[in-house]
Amino acid sequence: MKLPLKPQPRVFSGMQPSGNLHLGNYLGAMVQWVEMQTTHECIYCVVDMHAITVWQDPKELKDSIRQVTAACMAAGVDPTRTILFNQSQVHEHAELAWVFNCMARLGWLSRMTQFKEKAGKDRENASVGLYAYPVLMAADILVYRATHVPVGDDQKQHLELCRDIAQKFNNDFADAIRDAGFEDGTFFPLCEPVIMGPATRVMSLRDGTRKMSKSEPSDMSRINLTDDADTIARKIQKAKTDPEPLPSEPAGLEKRPEADNLVGIYAALAKQTKADILKDFGGAQFSTFKKSLAELAVSRLAPVNAEMNRLLADPPHIDRILADGTTRARAIAAPIMRQVKDIVGFLRS
Ligand code: ATP
Ligand code: MG
Repeated sequence: MKLPLKPQPRVFSGMQPSGNLHLGNYLGAMVQWVEMQTTHECIYCVVDMHAITVWQDPKELKDSIRQVTAACMAAGVDPTRTILFNQSQVHEHAELAWVFNCMARLGWLSRMTQFKEKAGKDRENASVGLYAYPVLMAADILVYRATHVPVGDDQKQHLELCRDIAQKFNNDFADAIRDAGFEDGTFFPLCEPVIMGPATRVMSLRDGTRKMSKSEPSDMSRINLTDDADTIARKIQKAKTDPEPLPSEPAGLEKRPEADNLVGIYAALAKQTKADILKDFGGAQFSTFKKSLAELAVSRLAPVNAEMNRLLADPPHIDRILADGTTRARAIAAPIMRQVKDIVGFLRS
């Protein structure tokens, strides 16, 4: 198959099977994933190789992969239109990651804030994989020469690194790239982050300065897509707040991170602005607001939850979807990887 000389518009994004999917994943990424299916060719990946950068129990990992796949479909990803697969089944990701390990500079990686946050104080004990994670992420995207990447706000820095890697590859191999027929010297696109979900950074329910995360040990810090109505209500009721009533305008949310987060979640779920929400709730106590927020969250998440459970009752069906996605993903990735090998100067038989 001959590659197009210019990278064509194509969307790629990934979700880790590192625990329960939560409201942040849904509002920050998944809603946008579903939206982009209508306008673009999309490839969505359950990034199991990223998940093992921290310890994962092998038995649980298999279930988590199926669960994230089911969540994507329940949220509206249509595997007949979009490619949906798990990363480890397409070995070209790992192959390109090695080439990119030799492009990325230690100085670039040492600036990555996610590594600093996840490694914490015990940095010497973090896996090399956790450090190299953004390089694999660049390979995930560029092995499809993808041009647009819908993600939450926390991934912005990793996407800048992805652009730096693409640029360095294009520069370092400029002659080989031209010799291979890519006349303008652009082999890899400088992909664009699409940070446009209804809430691009949902914060923890226990600490308004930390983002909601799958890997955060406290389950009370997040609303999982698998939580039932009572659990959602309990978590929202217990969410940290301050003693003041809600302000009537968004400016009043400054320096009140927990209040700002809850109002932001409400606005995203209701598809309204924070100003709209505060028009209704300005002056109200959190107890009233939280009750209403819990009802709204349950009404938005219950259908997703029910569909997820329906899909999870048939694991072989999910495995077949992933197998089909894998075949279609490899059909795109394999010729790109072969071209990379030629450009780099590897001998192929
Ligand atoms: P982990 O803690 O294991 O890194 P995570 O919760 O950060 O898990 P990822 O699988 O790393 O989830 O991210 C999947 C997608 O969800 C990414 O596009 C990421 O930007 C987005 N995302 C993750 N957390 C949030 C959040 N709190 N708010 C908005 N988007 C988020
Ligand atoms: Mg993450």
